[in-house]
Amino acid sequence: MSTPGPDDIASLSRELALVSDASTRILWADARATSMVGAWPGRSLRDLCLPGTGDKAAELVSRGVSSPMRAWELTLLVDNKPATVSFNGTPWNGQVLLVGQLMSNDYQDAIIKVQGALTDAVALNREIVRQKHEISRYAERLSQSNRDLQESNQGVLALHRELDDRADALSRSGEIKSRVVSSVSHEFRTPLNSVLGLTELLLEGSDGQLNDEQQKQVRFIRSSAEELMALVNDLLDLSKIEAGKVTLRATKFSMHDFLASMRGSLRPLVPADSPVSLIFADADPDFELETDRAKLSQVIRNLVSNALKFTERGEVHVSVRRVDDDQVALSVRDTGIGIPSELVDQIFEEFSQVDNPLQSRAKGTGLGLPISRRVAQLLGGDIAVETTVGEGSTFTLVIPRTHPDVAEMHQIESRSRHRDPSKVSVLVVEDDRRSMFVYERFLSMAGFQVIPARTVDAARAALSQELPEAVVLDVMLEEETTWRFLADLKRDPRTQHVPVLVVTVTNKEERARALGADEFWLKPIDQDRLLRKLKSLLRVERGVKVLVIDDDERARYLMRKHVAGQPYELFEAATGEEGTRLAREQMPNVIFLDFLLEKGTAFDVLDDLKADPRTRAIPVIIVTSQVLGDAERQLLSAGTEAVVSKQNLSRELAINRIRDALRKGGMESRL
Ligand code: ADP
Repeated sequence: MSTPGPDDIASLSRELALVSDASTRILWADARATSMVGAWPGRSLRDLCLPGTGDKAAELVSRGVSSPMRAWELTLLVDNKPATVSFNGTPWNGQVLLVGQLMSNDYQDAIIKVQGALTDAVALNREIVRQKHEISRYAERLSQSNRDLQESNQGVLALHRELDDRADALSRSGEIKSRVVSSVSHEFRTPLNSVLGLTELLLEGSDGQLNDEQQKQVRFIRSSAEELMALVNDLLDLSKIEAGKVTLRATKFSMHDFLASMRGSLRPLVPADSPVSLIFADADPDFELETDRAKLSQVIRNLVSNALKFTERGEVHVSVRRVDDDQVALSVRDTGIGIPSELVDQIFEEFSQVDNPLQSRAKGTGLGLPISRRVAQLLGGDIAVETTVGEGSTFTLVIPRTHPDVAEMHQIESRSRHRDPSKVSVLVVEDDRRSMFVYERFLSMAGFQVIPARTVDAARAALSQELPEAVVLDVMLEEETTWRFLADLKRDPRTQHVPVLVVTVTNKEERARALGADEFWLKPIDQDRLLRKLKSLLRVERGVKVLVIDDDERARYLMRKHVAGQPYELFEAATGEEGTRLAREQMPNVIFLDFLLEKGTAFDVLDDLKADPRTRAIPVIIVTSQVLGDAERQLLSAGTEAVVSKQNLSRELAINRIRDALRKGGMESRL
């Protein structure tokens, strides 16, 4: 770019100069005055102005000849367009020297804009001030409501504490109640049994015959003792359920068999000449249930005996209906006295009996239905009633065909059958279903796969199928068998490296450690701690380096696929030389080595690896598509971890081999 000359600079200037006399006649004008506004000597300054504004020019010069003028604005015609020129005037020998500054339109626009913006800014400022006031008012209100909130929060907290205390007290009193009931009931049973036994002896007359009156009295004693015994047994039942001490034993059985045995055991309740007949409907022999059979019979027995108690004539009918694929309904329908509708809800309350003429005759504790309902709920269902006074009642028990716990257990088992090799498997040996659910839930959420075993036998069977990464062993039932199992695990070379975490309720740490347990915990288990422990297993694999030496690109690709999703870092080499170099550089934890490379065989690579002290100890797994001769196999197995055929190399096998190699390579010692 050339340096600007005087003309260029002049063109940038927006100033013009001229000399005028007092009558506006121009005496001299500079070049820009001439070119910009057409001023030249002899012309009147007036004529340069926008028509009608010439007086302002006359005033400027008439005053300017005698005194200096500042920023006198005239509107001149520049290129026939009005433009403002701001003049400063200096008196000069009876004339006036005028220096004008052309205000460009842009400039004016800018000024207007700036003025506008300023006006806006002022307005905005006012608005901001107004809003600030508003905000501070809000803030004041907010902090007031905050104070109010804090106060009521304190109140709520206090209320919560009180509620907690009450809940504590309630659950304590509930606990105390059931403990008292259960110990009192037990205390009652012993003397009651003696009373019953003694009345039996008296009635038998083994120590001398009783007269009729005495026999009558002793029978009264016996029936009172029997009633008391029934009450004590019911109370004991209820307190057991309430304390959650009832264990369910689910088995598979057919509805047909169940009804047949119910019929057999209940028929004696109906005398041959009774005006009431007890009828059991039949069920399809293929219709199976998997639930607690004894509990189910307890409920049906109670419903049938109630129906018989409150039916003077007609029938008591027991029937079965499939509600849907998952649920079954068992109904006990009678043609008895019925229950007034307003009392229907009450009959499930403890000790409640309906006032009716049959009540006095019927023996009962008022606990049968509450117990039945609780048991029905334990079975995953409930009892409903339909009844009409004078016509009869139908009590219907609806329960899942497969008990929910069993169903969940089946799900866990089926999940464990579908092994996901990307997950670390943990064999959990635990006989309590609920604890198993807890293990399953939190372990699977943390990315483990639980292999459930509810008995030591099941655990042994699972182990014979595949090796888990860890075993969680609950030593509860089968205590001796479980200790033996632990000892066997730690003796067997195949399983001894698998870490075993022993969990138990009693402190048997010494025994567990002596038998080789890797960890010992008391129940209840601290889930976080257990997870941390098990996760350290995963961490062992994180950052594991795997080197694949294979000249076949497809084989390397397959290997990449196999370990995808695993926390391994994979290195690939297409030649033996490249492989040994990478082995030295990367120090992989395990090497997969193709038996037959383009140049040389696995023996050459192995020789190189074993010759270098750094790479000597790295476990090597030979992968081959050749059928190896015995001699070769023997030679290879001396210096390697395993020999795997390419056809068999699945994802699962690859991962398991890596894990095996890691264990042997001592990576697990970090556990
Ligand atoms: P109980 O031991 O007194 O039979 P339950 O809890 O089994 O106690 O029954 C409570 C009350 O419900 C009974 O006392 C009776 O009044 C009423 N009830 C139960 N089953 C029937 C029925 N099938 N028909 C009429 N009333 C019944």
